[in-house]
Amino acid sequence: MQLIMLGPPGAGKGTQAKLLSDRYNIPQVSTGDILRKAVAEGTKLGLEAKSHMDSGGLVPDRLVIDIIKDRLGHSDCAGGFILDGFPRTRAQAEGLHEQLKVLGKDINLVIDISVELDDLVTRLAGRRSCKECGEVYHLTYSAPSKDGVCDKCGGELYLRDDDREETIKRRFAVYKEQSAQLKGYYQALGAFFQISGNGAIDDIFEAIVKEIELISDN
Ligand code: AMP
Repeated sequence: MQLIMLGPPGAGKGTQAKLLSDRYNIPQVSTGDILRKAVAEGTKLGLEAKSHMDSGGLVPDRLVIDIIKDRLGHSDCAGGFILDGFPRTRAQAEGLHEQLKVLGKDINLVIDISVELDDLVTRLAGRRSCKECGEVYHLTYSAPSKDGVCDKCGGELYLRDDDREETIKRRFAVYKEQSAQLKGYYQALGAFFQISGNGAIDDIFEAIVKEIELISDN
């Protein structure tokens, strides 16, 4: 099963993708995670991506399309995958379409999680990520047991540079300009499910699972 998660940064795409990955035993493929790892490791890709990421802009299409082409060819994606944070532009959607043709696969469902700007600022500015394992917390909604320390691995928690208020506003503007149009693109193609990201994590998850089961039965 191949799924795409759409929605602005901070809508909860990653959280839901992780839950879906566990439920259906298919990998979560996050271009944001792959890029952050490349930046941390100081690779050529990371060096080219960093300035775009820090400013809240998009990394050039050719780089992320190449990342996805490579990633989807790995054996763990053979049984399906969940795209989280990709595609973000029309050119990326077209690049994905080409790669899916090569792989002989289709997208089963596009899940669009919608959230407004004010809610995003609250969510993202309170988000803390583990430097070691990438686990994500929220100071208000899902705080770690001990301040600044990851429950899972004991790693240090930090505020991502791009989760600061000014950058969040820029990321949201970039989303509106370049990524929001993908809704229309995928709506026209077929299986498309929209849900508000303002509910409880578990409720949103159950609604998505219900929709997946509905399309799997048809
Ligand atoms: P995310 O964790 O998905 O919010 O991504 C963090 C940052 O990585 C974004 O603000 C972009 O700078 C970059 N990024 C992640 N995915 C993409 C993509 N599909 N296209 C362009 N840039 C991306």
